[in-house]
Amino acid sequence: MQIVLASKNKKKIQELKRMLEDLSIEILSLDNFPNLGEVVEDGCTFEENALKKARYVKEKTGLSALADDSGLEVEALGGRPGIFSARYAGEHASDEDNIKKLLMEMREIPEDKRQARFVCCIALVLSTGEEKVFWGYVNGKITMEPRGDLGFGYDPVFIPEGYTLTFAEMPSEEKDRISHRRIALDNLKHYLVKFSQLYKQNLS
Ligand code: IMP
Repeated sequence: MQIVLASKNKKKIQELKRMLEDLSIEILSLDNFPNLGEVVEDGCTFEENALKKARYVKEKTGLSALADDSGLEVEALGGRPGIFSARYAGEHASDEDNIKKLLMEMREIPEDKRQARFVCCIALVLSTGEEKVFWGYVNGKITMEPRGDLGFGYDPVFIPEGYTLTFAEMPSEEKDRISHRRIALDNLKHYLVKFSQLYKQNLS
């Protein structure tokens, strides 16, 4: 069985290949289909964006496709930046710009009201047309100042629940073990294990 990962992000592709290497599934990526073009992420939810990307790739390639969308939701900001996490401070904003805007908006919010969570939604659209969505969350809180220089995005301002270090201060293996992406991928993997067993049975 083959699945096309709707991403050009090398880190994401490697991570997924690593996590799925013990299944009999061949993971392809957009690098295998250079003429496919970009999908505009104009959905109103993580799920809409992930499904839109996966449906597009499945339509164009005829193969099963996988896509993800993720971001940070801050309780005191009514869930913002949410689906706009990557471009919170503008279309071409850097991670630093986004963090600066977030901390500025939260400057009046006391330590005990800074709850937030990272969300990851993974959409799988099978070549048969069947669609499945998998979620992962990690709860935590937003710091008053950035701390640490590992990771990416909002890692320097996010302390996961039960920890004192930000994601940007902890070793990447530790973040990978508890992250929203890891949880969503584990849910996907459980499904694929069952699915690939059924798939093999149907072929034999
Ligand atoms: P995307 O899923 O690649 O579109 O990521 C959306 C944005 O959410 C990223 O650009 C980051 O700003 C933020 N984000 C998603 N996951 C993480 C994470 O694990 N750490 C920090 N920021 C993240």
